[in-house]
Formats: sequence, structure tokens, C-alpha cells
Amino acid sequence: MIVDRRGIGMTSQRTRDRMIKRLKEQGISHVELLNIMRELPRHLFMDEAMASRAYEDTALPIGHGQTISQPYIVARMTEILLAGTHKKKVLEIGTGSGYQTAVLSRLVERVFSVERIEPLQNKARERFYQLKLNNIRLKYSDGTWGWNENGLYDGIIVTCAPEEVPGALLKQLSPGGRLVIPVGGSENQSLRVIERNGTTFDETVLDDVSFVPLLSGEE
Ligand code: SAH
Repeated sequence: MIVDRRGIGMTSQRTRDRMIKRLKEQGISHVELLNIMRELPRHLFMDEAMASRAYEDTALPIGHGQTISQPYIVARMTEILLAGTHKKKVLEIGTGSGYQTAVLSRLVERVFSVERIEPLQNKARERFYQLKLNNIRLKYSDGTWGWNENGLYDGIIVTCAPEEVPGALLKQLSPGGRLVIPVGGSENQSLRVIERNGTTFDETVLDDVSFVPLLSGEE
């Protein structure tokens, strides 16, 4: 398959530039992050039928009852994750389309991402291959347990919402590391950032959000 990274009409560079302008107006200021989102062809992370809407500021269906997060949320969570100490190794729970994974892969040394729906993982893997993003490792598993084999992570980002913060994720955070995670049910979810300082964890509650739920087991 030949991938047209430029896109046409609603998937063109101009459309992407407008998305970046909007993100800046919404308060996103991380220059490198904005440049990466300006370049990365978000429309390749969804089915062709949806591609013309790829740069709207909304979540869109990616099949299997899941959604690709809206650009603002991707930018906001990434900005929060990257604040503080330098992040080399990042774990993501909920690969989905792989768009958030791809953004991260351009900003940190290595990204590990866990997904519980295999067909979504396979599509994401194909996209990373086409875009030559080769610092991403994927695992088909229930991300409630994190991904223990890689040692501690400087950052962990969760793109589905558990009712409570999974203890395994806290354990896999390195000292000074940050966990960015939506917590709660469909009616009362909030984005939280938890920082590990030695043996203690400092939690800050941020925006109200609306993510798909974190589900147990593999599908
Ligand atoms: N970052 C993705 C978000 C996709 S939606 C994107 O922007 O495309 C959230 C994803 O989390 C879904 O793909 C869903 O299958 C996955 N998910 C839900 N519970 C999970 C779990 N326990 N372990 C791993 N992935 C999970």
C-alpha cells in the first residue's frame, strides 16, 4: 500500500496547521509537541471513511466500540506527561489507533504500549511500520498489570479510565516519574497526574474528562 502522507483537502497540511492554531488557542504551548502534531498524519490512524474528519477537535470511532482521543486531549496529556524530569522510557495503556503512541515516539527514546483488543493492536503496528516509527514495542495484554519486564518507567500514560488507579502502575513508576491517568466512571471522570517522590506519591486532580472505560482481560 502506498501511503500519501501529504493528504488532500480535509487531510491536507493546511487543515493540520489549523488544528495546531486551535491547540495553541486552547493553551498548549510545548513547541516540539506542536511541531510533531503538525507533521504527523492523524488521518492515517483511522478508517478512510472517517479520514475527512481527522483534524476536527473530537474523538472519533476506530471500531470495536473504541475511539481515537481528540487532538486537544492527546496534546494536553502529553504536555502533562513531559513536564518535570526528562522522560526516556514511557509506558502507554490503551494503544487504540496508535496516534498517541506515535506522538510520544517522536518525543521520548522508547515507548511501550499495551492493548487488550488484538485487531486494533495489529492495525496500529502496521501504521508504525509505514511511518517508520521503530522505537515502539507493543504488548497484547490487560494493561491493569502494566508491563513489568522493562523495569521502571519515567512516564506512564493511560488512555482508558479505570475506577481506581491500578497499583501495578504506581509500582512501575521510577522515582520522579509521572503517571497521567483518567479515573472514574462515565459520569464523574477526572484526569489525574501522580508523581512518585521516593516512596510517596503526590496526586493532583486536573480537568473533567470522558474516556472509554478500562476493561479487564483480553478480547
Ligand atoms: N490512545 C488511543 C485511545 C484509544 S481508546 C487513541 O487515541 O487511539 C482506549 C483504548 O484502551 C482502547 O483501544 C481499549 O481497547 C484500550 N483498553 C481498555 N482497557 C484496557 C486494558 N485493560 N488494557 C489495555 N488496553 C485497554
